[in-house]
Amino acid sequence: MRKILLILIFPLVNNVQAQQSADSQLNIILLIGDGMGLSQISAGMYVNKNKTVLEDFSDIGLSKTHAINSLVTDSAASGTAMACGEKTYNGVLGINSKNKKLQSVLEICEDHGYNTGLIATSSIVHATPASFYANVDSRKKFEEIALQLSESNVDYFIGAGKKYFNKREDKRNLIKEMNDVDVVKNFNTYKKSDADRIGFFTYGDEPPSIINGRAPLLAEYLKATLVKLDSRNEPFFLMVEGSQIDWGGHANDIEYITSEFIEFNSAIEEALNFAKNNSNTLVIVTADHETGGLAITMGKTKGYEIVAGFNTGGHSATMVPVFSYGKHSELFGGIYDNTQIFHKIIEALDLN
Ligand SMILES: [Zn+2]
Repeated sequence: MRKILLILIFPLVNNVQAQQSADSQLNIILLIGDGMGLSQISAGMYVNKNKTVLEDFSDIGLSKTHAINSLVTDSAASGTAMACGEKTYNGVLGINSKNKKLQSVLEICEDHGYNTGLIATSSIVHATPASFYANVDSRKKFEEIALQLSESNVDYFIGAGKKYFNKREDKRNLIKEMNDVDVVKNFNTYKKSDADRIGFFTYGDEPPSIINGRAPLLAEYLKATLVKLDSRNEPFFLMVEGSQIDWGGHANDIEYITSEFIEFNSAIEEALNFAKNNSNTLVIVTADHETGGLAITMGKTKGYEIVAGFNTGGHSATMVPVFSYGKHSELFGGIYDNTQIFHKIIEALDLN
């Protein structure tokens, strides 16, 4: 009897230890609203019946977004700052001002046994997601960026821009070349696939806006990916971008902005609910910059109607908020450079 008990107990103890070490490693969900300044959040909140899930976040900071030589950043320089921890020139991805290639937090996590994912409502080779896997001197080199994604170790990706992978000038078909990634044709197959690495191209070119019928919703992509990441024994790093809040800003179109914010808000809610049920998870929500110089200049409290004004068709240099929730969220309070997003995540991860 005693022998049988020992045999039964030993595997149990080992399992518990394995579970504890997986549990003690931090999961990171980083959500970036492209062009999502405080006015975009405020406008989206009012239109959303004066509510946003961001009100549930425990810690709030402000991030200084400027590029190394320009007060007004673009998504490449700001994405690189957040992903890799160094300021660089506008247009540059994953390379610093001294022409040194940088390793991103996603790649550092990969080196430490993490599973990783990228989800965007733009093409997956767009500047923000590309900051996490690419090193290229111009964000416009989409085919080169696609090649670098195909050679990366990202485990799950959902985004558009399929044409940069299979209709290329060099005639290569990267989808076929990614033979250890299950590149699926539709979202149902994505959900059903139990491959360790899965890619889903949502659209051949750039996706339409929510107003023009983009589907499924970002929150559904996030939920499906969290189910997969949660089913594995390793911790994970996941970046989710609400890409088109920025495009609404460039168009000076307040309905475009608020509809994209409300979609992003639902994805944030999905991430927050996951963190509420998984205490070793840190959720960070921020922006790369503000777009449009948006201000809410008039409105009504009845029905929360808003009237908006814009100062530019480009980006602005205003600071952007950082919301955090979960384990080590307190690190993200205060005012700091966007490069600190990277350094604070590294500190929270406590690797080695
Ligand atoms: Zn922009």
